[in-house]
Amino acid sequence: MRFLQVFVMLFLPFLTMPLLAQQDYFFPEKTFFKEGVPTPGEFLGYEIGDFHTRHDRLVAYFYELARISDRIHIQEIGMTYEQRPMIIATITSPQNYNNLENIRQEHLQLIDPQVSLPAMGQMPVIIQLGYNVHGNEPSSSEAAMLTAYYLTASEDPEVLRYLEDAVIFVEPVLNPDGRDRHTNWANMHRGFPPVADANDREHNEVWPSGRVNHYWFDLNRDWLPLVHVESQARLKFYHTWYPNVVTDFHEMGTNSTYFFEPTKPFGSENPIIPRSNYDDLNNLLAPYFANAMDDIGSLYFTKEVFDNSYPGYGSTYPDIQGGLGLVFEQASSRGHLQESIHGEVSFAFTIRNHLVNSLATIKGTVENKEIFLRHQREFFGGAVKQADGHYASGYVFGDAGDRNRTKAFMDLLLQHKIKVYETGRDIESNNKTFGAGTSYIVPGNQPQFRMVATMFDTVTTFHDSLFYDTSAWSMVHAYGLPSSAINKRAWRNVSLGQQIDSTFLNSQSFPVLRSDYAYLFSWQDYNAPGVLHELQKKGIIAKTAFKPFSIETLEGIKEFSNGSILVPVEIQKMPAEELHSLMSDLAKTHKISIEAVKGGFSTTGIDLGSSSFENLEVPKPLMLIGEGISQYEAGEIWYLMDSKLGMPLTKVDILDFNRVKLENYNELILVNGNYGLLREKDVQKIKNWVEQGNTLILQKSAVTWGITNKLIAEELKVKKDTVTEDAPSLRLDYGSAEAIEGAKVIGGSMYRVDLDITHPLGFGYTNRDLVVYRNSNILLNPVKNPYSTVAVYKNDPLVSGYISSDNLQKLPGTASVLVSKLGSGRVISFVDNPNFRGTWYGTNKLFFNALFFGPIIEVPEVRE
Ligand SMILES: [Zn+2]
Repeated sequence: MRFLQVFVMLFLPFLTMPLLAQQDYFFPEKTFFKEGVPTPGEFLGYEIGDFHTRHDRLVAYFYELARISDRIHIQEIGMTYEQRPMIIATITSPQNYNNLENIRQEHLQLIDPQVSLPAMGQMPVIIQLGYNVHGNEPSSSEAAMLTAYYLTASEDPEVLRYLEDAVIFVEPVLNPDGRDRHTNWANMHRGFPPVADANDREHNEVWPSGRVNHYWFDLNRDWLPLVHVESQARLKFYHTWYPNVVTDFHEMGTNSTYFFEPTKPFGSENPIIPRSNYDDLNNLLAPYFANAMDDIGSLYFTKEVFDNSYPGYGSTYPDIQGGLGLVFEQASSRGHLQESIHGEVSFAFTIRNHLVNSLATIKGTVENKEIFLRHQREFFGGAVKQADGHYASGYVFGDAGDRNRTKAFMDLLLQHKIKVYETGRDIESNNKTFGAGTSYIVPGNQPQFRMVATMFDTVTTFHDSLFYDTSAWSMVHAYGLPSSAINKRAWRNVSLGQQIDSTFLNSQSFPVLRSDYAYLFSWQDYNAPGVLHELQKKGIIAKTAFKPFSIETLEGIKEFSNGSILVPVEIQKMPAEELHSLMSDLAKTHKISIEAVKGGFSTTGIDLGSSSFENLEVPKPLMLIGEGISQYEAGEIWYLMDSKLGMPLTKVDILDFNRVKLENYNELILVNGNYGLLREKDVQKIKNWVEQGNTLILQKSAVTWGITNKLIAEELKVKKDTVTEDAPSLRLDYGSAEAIEGAKVIGGSMYRVDLDITHPLGFGYTNRDLVVYRNSNILLNPVKNPYSTVAVYKNDPLVSGYISSDNLQKLPGTASVLVSKLGSGRVISFVDNPNFRGTWYGTNKLFFNALFFGPIIEVPEVRE
């Protein structure tokens, strides 16, 4: 304690600039600031840039501003997983604030083309400044505090005009959990003086990075899938206001400069967004950013890069809501001070660049506010017109065998304010029957038409071949739902039933009749694995059907497909009465039908005592994580098991693997990554353990690791890229290398595979046709054993997204899911990621199958 005091007295004066100097650095215009409003530095006890501000201190500063000033009010829109509040500050004139609900109602008229045009001259424009979605890009949240201070304290007439003409929402931290992870890292390694050497530990975070949220997800991909609490809360707020301009502040490589929009023309644009967004609005604001940066002598670039097409980005989603989303990228100091090719980059410098662009955003938006308001109005009016000319008048979807997956998709549509209806009568479309009561309709003709098209349409032609990330986002395919576009002629026969709302989604009840013999439930339902886990947790013995059957239940004859779960009553330790009440609870909480039977004699197919019902083992999984391993893919599995199964998952750091007793587990999960940290004896340990009858689950590059290390006993041929490799004499222009090489990357797209639904890994599926997500160039030939390539790429497999024609030709016939025998155990290989971004409900079942059925999968012998 004594040491600390001395330390602070001795050193702190050198760390902080004198107050005036710092004010001059961030606010050189010397505008008059109100007395009594504390600067961030006065409140925090250190100057902005000297430390990374903890989230709780940052939140406290905003509350302090709100306590002192009537220009700013705080609301909490949600809580993160780690219980940090998500705050949004409303900054506007006190008069506007007192009239806020009227302003909101009037603003919402802009998004309803049926309401007559409001008088836009008097309307404030709505600005939402969002910061720090990637937690380890921390300068922006510090800039958010300075922005809020400036707007709250400045008496400059120009600022007073902003407050009159705009309602400004400041969301200072979009990813509080990730931010604090990085904040602690940077502060705990801060030297006094700071160390600028890029090799210093301060500048090199450990796994997992602060970029991601609690579950290691990138929240700047989640605006469309809305998997996480942060995004759900954000979208809910978003749709109460429909802001006109939305910012998204980031950091990039230390040797770069600064980037603001426009992004790369055409190539990085989303074709569903009207051209006026790119041609008019972006070019309208760019000069404001340029001036702001010129004034302080900072370098920047525009137009060359940054994908702006995927609707899950925070800078793209607003473009599909009649607003303008703006991405800003600052070269990172990643820590307090770091050397770069442009000299030393200080944290304060990075903060100042984001600050001046925050203020330039406000200035540019307010000075052009009618253009933004009119754009929003025309955007939604134009959407309805665009729907008229669209090839589909609407879409029908639904999976009668899996109501929970269907409902999850509808819930997503509702969160995006898309109107959904029951089908009034059966619809025949695209050789499929969509039954009334189990299918739903989304008409194209609605203000959210562009989101409708985003959810349902597939795209296979592109302006560009370079994608920063995914090029496919048709969510109906991610949810694996049978669906069909309905053309104008067929639309005339469509009858819309009741409009779906959230009450509808929760209205059904699932009573379970009592049985003294057995209970059965289908594996087709998305929630079935969660029910099975709950049963196994209570020590209930459950079996699964390897063949289909039909049987007389207490509610009539029912059909059951492969994978259906059987829970006999008599063999359990739990008394029949208690089991019935457990079954009733599970049916209710998981919204699933559980059938009671009086006896074991089937109407068709196997009886309940058949050996084709196999006893299930309780999964005891372990997942390797840490350095070299994809935090996204590991996080997807962790999140899936927490949120969909309620199953604890042991996550072991790769550096601790040698200490783990593998015999305590029966499944080992390795996702995409570099497993070079495993030593030869670690690999041997895994091999011996699998040979003893256990299950190894590999995903993407872990599959090639398994081949290299001979864990997959069969010889797999890895298909190689051929374009340039096979033509050594080929001569190409230097300037074309980026485009040609970049085009070979499969950044993320959707493909059709043939799934063996008789294989335990295919249980719960009734259609062999399955859409998978691929974001790697790993190409594997099928295994030698003819029964073990569970899913294989079809001819002409592309469903949606970008792929080079050369790559596309190589895909058919390659394996997507396969099983290899190793001793008494097995290796399950997922060449593609079945749990991508927490949103691939359509292929999650493949992973659930590996988890629950893996231990009982046999690889059939092939007789000579
Ligand atoms: Zn970022």
